[in-house]
Amino acid sequence: VRVLVLGSGGREHSICWKLKQSPILEKLFCLPGNAGIASVAECVSGISVTDVPKVVEWCKEQKIDFVVVGPEDPLTKGVVDALSDAGILAFGPNKEAAELENSKAFMKDILHKYNVPTASYIRTTSPDEAKAYIEKQGVPIVVKASGLCAGKGVILCYTKEEAMQAIDEIMVSKIFKDSGNEVVIEELLEGEEASYFALCDGETAIPVAGAQDHKQVYDGDKGPNTGGMGAYSPAPVLTPEMEQKIMDEVMIPTVKGMKAEGKPFKGVLFAGLMIKNGQIKVLEHNVRFGDPECQTVMMRMKSDLLKTLILAAEGSFSTMPPLEWDPRTAMVVVMAAKGYPGSYAKDTPINNVAAADAMKDVVVFHAGTGMKGDQVLVSTGGRVLGVASLGNDVLEAQTLAYKAVDAIDWPQGFCRRDIGHR
Ligand code: ATP
Repeated sequence: VRVLVLGSGGREHSICWKLKQSPILEKLFCLPGNAGIASVAECVSGISVTDVPKVVEWCKEQKIDFVVVGPEDPLTKGVVDALSDAGILAFGPNKEAAELENSKAFMKDILHKYNVPTASYIRTTSPDEAKAYIEKQGVPIVVKASGLCAGKGVILCYTKEEAMQAIDEIMVSKIFKDSGNEVVIEELLEGEEASYFALCDGETAIPVAGAQDHKQVYDGDKGPNTGGMGAYSPAPVLTPEMEQKIMDEVMIPTVKGMKAEGKPFKGVLFAGLMIKNGQIKVLEHNVRFGDPECQTVMMRMKSDLLKTLILAAEGSFSTMPPLEWDPRTAMVVVMAAKGYPGSYAKDTPINNVAAADAMKDVVVFHAGTGMKGDQVLVSTGGRVLGVASLGNDVLEAQTLAYKAVDAIDWPQGFCRRDIGHR
């Protein structure tokens, strides 16, 4: 099978690394990829992942059989639909099904209609109606811009003034542009957060793994939010009973609901959950793997990823044997450029990555790297490396991951030292 992966992060490196192990793989490409991905796939430059017509044209020229889409942007732009029109199979939801992530209002309506537990809410395009609802419900309350806002569109409000101001900023001043044309206003939930991944084939969902990430930039969950500074899997808060409950109450009803709506969901369903006293409520659905959580999932997967993703895209999970997993714990520690998530220097040299990568049960996934000349690896972004490890428990995985981190020589980089502390 000739395969193209779309994306350039640690998520895509881990997907390429796993696909490369498949006996049915003939040739692997990644668009655009990065310096680490180049060691397992042929990287394709000069085309943007969101330029759907160009991506499709390139796939036709290169006789690509199967495309795996990493990030959400190309999905919400309809890349899977366009590929399918060109007769090319792709893993990921089509445009209509990707609305689960693209529109929080749509997602909430689906959850509500199919009895998936979630916070009570309204959706509205009217600032007056929004304010009247806040007046009636009181605080605390959560105001969300319905569209994609790169993680900034959710405002937790503890006073009425904050809530009214959030409405003005989102709906009147339009700080998130058209993503704020509509808002969802919902009950503020308390509890412990966790995320869960399932693979879906349009008909049903099969469990993959739970994970807990570390959003804040500094140790002890301090500092501003980031794209994620580390993760581990499986997550001890998610007992086997809890996983079953998540599948029964959240994942399967969502997939059945989407099918009943005539929008069958194929791809990764990545639910953000709030858990309190054994009760689960859905905070959000995403329609792709989270990064860095994906890296921990790929470390633990023993089944053939390529075959699995093809069956998902074809809608044929009924013919698939159960997925096999390494029972050990996987951890990933993200190394970022000093200054991230604020401003940071680029093009800083990184040495000794090969030494870390050569350690047993360690893989160094690249997120933002490039080559300067033939020899020097340099940083090209904020989150730069994902140092992933496997251990018999969280502590062992943690010790190994940090041993590998310490082998890497990158004076301009940093990482959290407490991934796995929970
Ligand atoms: P964006 O659209 O800006 O990318 P997002 O998809 O990251 O936003 P969510 O994941 O829905 O937004 O919410 C972000 C965080 O806000 C959650 O991880 C959670 O901590 C908090 N949150 C969201 N909804 C609620 C709620 N109802 N109660 C309490 N906390 C919430």
